[in-house]
Amino acid sequence: MAQLILNQVYKKYDGKKKKLFKKQEKNNFAVNGISYTCNDGEFIGILGPSGCGKSTTLRMIAGLEKITAGEIYIGDMLINDLEPKDRNIGLAFEDYALYPPLTVRENLAFNMRAKKKAQNEIDEAIAYVAPLMKIDDLLEMKPSALSGGQKQRVNIARAIVRRPGLLLLDEPLSHLDGKMRQQLRQEIRRMHHEIHCTAIIVTHDQMEAMSLADRIIIMKDGMIQQIGTPLEVYDDPVNEFVAGFIGEPPMNLLHAKIVNKNGGFVFTFAGSELEVQVPKKYGKIVCGGMEVILGVRPTDVMITKKSAAGTQVRIAVYENLGDERRIAVRVGASLVSITTVDDVFYSVGDKVQLAFHEERTHLFDPATGNRIRG
Ligand code: ADP
Ligand code: MG
Repeated sequence: MAQLILNQVYKKYDGKKKKLFKKQEKNNFAVNGISYTCNDGEFIGILGPSGCGKSTTLRMIAGLEKITAGEIYIGDMLINDLEPKDRNIGLAFEDYALYPPLTVRENLAFNMRAKKKAQNEIDEAIAYVAPLMKIDDLLEMKPSALSGGQKQRVNIARAIVRRPGLLLLDEPLSHLDGKMRQQLRQEIRRMHHEIHCTAIIVTHDQMEAMSLADRIIIMKDGMIQQIGTPLEVYDDPVNEFVAGFIGEPPMNLLHAKIVNKNGGFVFTFAGSELEVQVPKKYGKIVCGGMEVILGVRPTDVMITKKSAAGTQVRIAVYENLGDERRIAVRVGASLVSITTVDDVFYSVGDKVQLAFHEERTHLFDPATGNRIRG
């Protein structure tokens, strides 16, 4: 059982220490001053685009990569200089790295044997994890006989066989096909429920992070953008990046200008006649002429009328995915995505009227990307 604390952790590959904090070099950090606490037993997801520093972060926690600056604690022990093998950490990375000549059972036993554990202790540990990861039937097989999904199960079983205080998973499912991923995702969740260690999963797949993690850390360019529960990062993004990154299809982010109208305010869009009422909660912080990024999820845009009078937009895309319809309409130079379960069919070019779920819109500062709150 362990609480994990990162305090202002930096990583610069090939970094020379005395030059580190020169301003012009700031963007050379693979990890750029991150701090967070994983609570005991918590499942944390680190989510972000490729190259944002997720794996580097995990490798520093595991002790596989030296920290350029900052502190990492497990419990109240500073582990910066502790050998990886002394950190009580279980690791499972994307490539399985099972020992090919050994059977699954021997692969699971390998690290315990190295630690000179007694045979009955090894047998007990394997008997515990094998059903947990559903690999009972694979124990006497060699890795070459296993499918990708089975290898990854063994890989994860090997990571937890010594009951680590901290489990680190780096994109463990990214080699697998859709159905297998979903299945293994559920099994990881169930396994964590059972052994209840502190766990971190690194992924670029938001579905994976959203479905597995208690809290998600969203990273970009080596920096943390937001930490929150899946619902918090979805409903209450702190900036334009998080708003656009979480959600599939992504949130519409439209450049809008605010205009006074009939004693209130409306959003207007360059090249379009569409006007959308500015919600009351923003009344005190907006003014005529102000430019904003208006964020609205595809599920919060509605088509109210087909071929009606009034401000109209045209259908640009209509896709029927069976359980939902994905529609795009042209507003000025932008396409606005709409997701709906309505059955109405539209042809490309149809004129329609739009309404926004105004209370669920978000405003961002076009200069900084930061959220403007009502
Ligand atoms: P992620 O896992 O989020 O895709 P990484 O942590 O692997 O990102 O990489 C973060 C940044 O550090 C990237 O710009 C990457 O090119 C760089 N990087 C990663 N590993 C090394 C390395 N061993 N040497 C030099 N640069 C590296
Ligand atoms: Mg990575």
